[in-house]
Amino acid sequence: MSDSKLVYTPLDDIEKIYNELKTTFASGKSKPIRYRRYQLLQLAYMLKDNTKLFEDALAADLGRPELEARMLDIDPSLGEIKSTLSSFEKWTKQEKAPFSINFTAMRPVIRKEPKGVVLIISPFNYPLFLTLPLMASAIAAGNAVVLKPAENTPATSALLASLAEKYLDTSLIRVINGGVDETTKLLEYTWGHILYTGGGRVGKIIAVAGAKTLSPVSLELGGKSPVFIDPKCDLKMTAKRLLWGKLANAGQTCVAPDYIIVPQDFQDKLVKALQDECEEFYPNKASAPGQMSRLVSTPAFTRINNLIKNTKGTIVFGGDTDEATKYIGPTIVKDVMPGDCLMSEEIFGPVLPIMPVSSIEEGLAYVNAHDHPLSVYAFSQDSAFKAKIFDNTQSGSAMANETIIHPAAYGLPFGGIGPSGSGYHSGKYGFDMFTHLRSSMDSPGWLDMLLSFRYPPYTPAKLKAMGRFTGSSLPPRPTGPPSDPQVSNTGKLFWTKWFSFLLALGLAGGVMKRQYKL
Ligand code: NAD
Repeated sequence: MSDSKLVYTPLDDIEKIYNELKTTFASGKSKPIRYRRYQLLQLAYMLKDNTKLFEDALAADLGRPELEARMLDIDPSLGEIKSTLSSFEKWTKQEKAPFSINFTAMRPVIRKEPKGVVLIISPFNYPLFLTLPLMASAIAAGNAVVLKPAENTPATSALLASLAEKYLDTSLIRVINGGVDETTKLLEYTWGHILYTGGGRVGKIIAVAGAKTLSPVSLELGGKSPVFIDPKCDLKMTAKRLLWGKLANAGQTCVAPDYIIVPQDFQDKLVKALQDECEEFYPNKASAPGQMSRLVSTPAFTRINNLIKNTKGTIVFGGDTDEATKYIGPTIVKDVMPGDCLMSEEIFGPVLPIMPVSSIEEGLAYVNAHDHPLSVYAFSQDSAFKAKIFDNTQSGSAMANETIIHPAAYGLPFGGIGPSGSGYHSGKYGFDMFTHLRSSMDSPGWLDMLLSFRYPPYTPAKLKAMGRFTGSSLPPRPTGPPSDPQVSNTGKLFWTKWFSFLLALGLAGGVMKRQYKL
C-alpha cells in the first residue's frame, strides 16, 4: 500500500469539483452542528483506523522511523482533531458585542459563519499534521474544503485521497492531487479562504493569485530560525534538545533550529556537548534502519549535499551522505561566517551551522538585519538573557530551552510574521481563520424616537441633538512624556462613564416626553 501511485486529478475535473462544492455549500448542508461533528469524527476515524497504512506511507515518502511518524504526524493530528471536536460547538456560538449605550437597543451580535469553499495547499514535510487538523478547523467552521497535498510525498497523498473518498462527504470535502499545473488551475477560482503552507517563493505566487480573485490568503512560510546560546545554559540539555529539533524528520521542519549563535569562547564547549549527544542518540549508526528520516527527494538531497561541500566552515561531525537512500547524516559545522552558503537560505536538512560572535549584541544585529524568522530560540538559565533575546527580536514564536514542540502546543497560535508568514492556526485560531465574523444588528422601530436627528432635513436643533449622542470627550491630556509616572485615570473614567449614562437616560426621557407630549 505504501508505494501506491499518486494519480493527479485531471485538470478538466477541477472546475467541476469546484462548482459542485460551491453548489452544495450554498445548499446549507455543511452548516448544522451535527453534520460538522459527523465529518470531524469520520476524519478522526479515517486516521485512527488506518494508522498502519499512514505509517507505511510516511516511511515510503520520508523514510520516517515509526516513532517519528507517530510523534510528529499521526498522534498530534489526532490530538488536534479531538480537541477541535470537543470545543468547536462553543466556538460557533454567536457573541454579543460589548455594551454600548448608543447601540445596545439594536442588539449587536457577531455571528460565526463559514467563509465558503476554502482551499488548503500543503507541503511535503508533515503530510498529516499540516493537512488533517487544518481540514478539521475548516469543517468545524462549516466550510466546504479542498485539500491539495504535496506531490512529492506520493504515497501519503494518494492514501489521503483514497481514504477521504471513503470516509468523508465528497459533496463538500475533496482531496485534489497534483503539482504546479493543478495548483495553478485551482488558484484561478475565488475561494472563501486560501491557506498555503510552504516556502516563500511559492508563497508570493499564492499571494498574487489570491489578490487576483480577491480571495483572502494566509501564508504559513519558513525561514532561518536562529538559536542564541548563553554560556549560562544547561549544556547537556541544550545539546540534546537542539539536536533533536534539528534531526527530527531529517531537519525538514519549518521551525527547526536553523543555525546557532554562540560566544566565540564557548563554541568548542558547545561543539563537544553536541558531539557527545549525537553519539548517544546513535550508538550504532544514524543511517541504521529506523533511526533517521531521509530527505524527501533527490533534488532536496543534492541541495543539502552541495551546502555541505561548499561551506567554508569546519565540519566537526558528520558530513556523510548516501544519494541512493537520500540519507544525510547529522552534520555539525563550526566557525561559519555570515556570508557562508549555510547562512544564505533555510537549510531544511540535518546540518547545524554554528556562528561564533564576540557579543550577544553582534548576534542580535545579525538576526535583525535579516528576514523575521518563524521561531527564535534562546538557551539559558538566566531570565535576563532570555528577555534580552525575546525583547530585541521579532519572530513568529519565541522559545526558551525548547525546540520544535510548540506548533503542537494546545492553546497557542501558530504562525509567522512578515516573510515567515501571516495568519495563525492551531485549535481555535484555525477555526477563526476559516470563520467570517459577520456583524449583525436588529434595530427596533421605536429607536427613531431617539435617533430621528439623523434624517434630513438637517437643522441646527438636530445637530445639537446629535452632539449629545456622539460626544467628543477624550481622556485628559498626558501630563508629561511617557517615561513619567502615569497618573491613574481609572477613577475619573468610571465616573465620566456613569455621568454619560445618566445624561443619556435623561436626554432619552426628555425626547420621549416631547414626542408623546407626556
Ligand atoms: P512543497 O514543495 O511541498 O510545496 C508546497 C505546496 O506548494 C505543494 O502543495 C506544491 O504543489 C505547491 N506548489 C509548488 N510550486 C508551486 C507553484 N509554482 N504554484 C503553485 N503551487 C505550487 O513544499 P516546500 O515549499 O518545499 O516546503 C518547504 C517550506 O515550507 C519550507 O520553507 C518550510 O519552512 C515551509 N513550511 C512552513 C510551515 C509553517 O507552518 N509555517 C510548515 C511546513 C513547512
